[in-house]
Amino acid sequence: ANAELIDLNAVIEETRVLLGRSIGAHIELVAHLAEEPVTVWADRSRMEQILLNLVINARDAMPDGGVIAMEADPLDVPDDPARQPPLPAGPYVRLRVTDTGTGIPPDVAEHIFEPFFTTKAEQHGTGLGLATVYGIVTDAGGSISLTSEVGVGTTFQILLPLATSDE
Ligand code: ADP
Ligand code: MG
Repeated sequence: ANAELIDLNAVIEETRVLLGRSIGAHIELVAHLAEEPVTVWADRSRMEQILLNLVINARDAMPDGGVIAMEADPLDVPDDPARQPPLPAGPYVRLRVTDTGTGIPPDVAEHIFEPFFTTKAEQHGTGLGLATVYGIVTDAGGSISLTSEVGVGTTFQILLPLATSDE
């Protein structure tokens, strides 16, 4: 891995431009860019891979169209021994991808980060996307979680340690 200082705002904007056209006329892909720095020490292509996987999954969950929003903002995480997986207190970047799609029922959410778990037809899904995202995020010292409501939509939330320029 080639770690460097990465501005997640730039990766979000890149993803919007890259996928905005091809994602389908029925889907609006929007980026909310933070005004504060949202830099992480990471491999750029892996950060791109996270967003690609989450956005493509969101698109697949919206056959009748809808909105996908990407945003990053800085967040101070307090010490929380109950958090699973445990995460040290400190400054983080919170990266969120929200969709207005089908939502994820609890029995699916339970298995969603497992390799080869998919609800898609064989030609359409390998079930490796979220397992890959999970690996990238935990390797980088972060965490991933989701909140979802069936019929309303889903938000994936990722926390990655905030990097400062003196690192
Ligand atoms: P794949 O996309 O190949 O099926 P993933 O690991 O990317 O594999 O996702 C696993 C499963 O999680 C999907 O098959 C789908 O059922 C569910 N899923 C992931 N993201 C979403 C989403 N945004 N909305 C609804 N379901 C989702
Ligand atoms: Mg996928």
